[in-house]
Amino acid sequence: MVSMSTLPLESASPAHICPFDQACSYLEAAAKELKLDQGTLEILSHPRKVVTVSIPVKLDDGEVRVLAGHRVQHSDILGPYKGGIRYHPAVTLREVSALAMLMTWKCALLGIPYGGAKGGIAIDPKRYSVGELERITRRYTSELIKDIGPSVDIPAPDMGTSAREMAWMMDTYSVNVGHAVPGVVTGKPISVGGSRGREMATGRGTMIIVREALADRGKSLIGVRVAIQGFGNVGSAAAELLYQEGAKVIAVSTGAGGVFAADGLDIPALKAYAASNRKSVVGFPQGTPISNADLLTLPCDVLIPAALENQITEANADQVQAQIIAEAANGPVTLEANLSLEARGVTVLPDILANAGGVVVSYLEWVQGLSYLFWDEERVNREMEHLMVQAYHQVIKQSQVRQIPLRLAAYTLGVGRVAQALSDRGLYP
Ligand code: GLU
Repeated sequence: MVSMSTLPLESASPAHICPFDQACSYLEAAAKELKLDQGTLEILSHPRKVVTVSIPVKLDDGEVRVLAGHRVQHSDILGPYKGGIRYHPAVTLREVSALAMLMTWKCALLGIPYGGAKGGIAIDPKRYSVGELERITRRYTSELIKDIGPSVDIPAPDMGTSAREMAWMMDTYSVNVGHAVPGVVTGKPISVGGSRGREMATGRGTMIIVREALADRGKSLIGVRVAIQGFGNVGSAAAELLYQEGAKVIAVSTGAGGVFAADGLDIPALKAYAASNRKSVVGFPQGTPISNADLLTLPCDVLIPAALENQITEANADQVQAQIIAEAANGPVTLEANLSLEARGVTVLPDILANAGGVVVSYLEWVQGLSYLFWDEERVNREMEHLMVQAYHQVIKQSQVRQIPLRLAAYTLGVGRVAQALSDRGLYP
């Protein structure tokens, strides 16, 4: 196991699965399959830059609190660093480092010219006012001012952030450098150069990958029974698009709990309900309550974990009844669970493929901004679909040619492309 002992990361609690160790294990498996040399593996195992900044913020009641904000830049071998900013209480430097590494492989797999990065602040955004969140975001941005930029590192939304935070980041960066720089972030509001289709992009990408996987089995989305854990930006968009395509979304959940309806939930009605119920689906009248844990083991065809990591573990993997799992979240299936699911013949569509729609449309937003030419939503969706379907078929082919599971196939493609570029560029000095 490659260690991060040379980096100033806090130690992982032994009771928890360390996301960075897990990410390194996947990298090592890919390196072994590709027969990469030890030096290349060492380089790819270490983030290039790890930044932690203090964010002093005055709360509405006058109290001053100092938060820690992270940005981990894993690799810029293929292009500028790219990746979201997460506001969630469980954020740690190790988690951000793992997610930064995943972004490197995800961008390489999709063939978009970016490296990988991730940022985060360990806060529950629901506990802060809009004004407090704006001050936190602006101070975090200004502390990172030398580390980000449209050709350096381009943040985007992730869990707990949205177009609103991106507009604040873009404005703070622009004011500091003295002119408008829309390309410093993606996932912006349309009014400041955001792309049509970005809001729904991650969920749309998940729907496309599930559709392709079903098509390979001679099935369509019509009537397919789907359970979705998470009803945030990704889960709700996936639910809506799958519903539109004729799938039966039989259960969805949020942090507080979920709802189940054997004949399929009315997703537009559920979205409206959640919007007026502080984003929770609990209490939706046209369904019965179900816990987050029970949702994962429901009898269904497709399971979409679209919330946090480590949801399907050794403890519950055996009880999962779905034949296809699409990882809309990052890392929802642990390494051990993945092995036991594969042994049972369950298809796990890996995160770096199944949730790549967001960063693909981020890339399309960046391209539109750089060319000062903005597309209609149909064109954005078409270009995104092309890249997603192409990557899906490359992963399937890689898995067949090398006789390896889909996750390893996706990793070998992503890691292999970065390793090739590293070898072509050479090591400086
Ligand atoms: N946060 C998203 C992800 O994990 C999007 C990143 C981006 O658009 O840069 O893929």
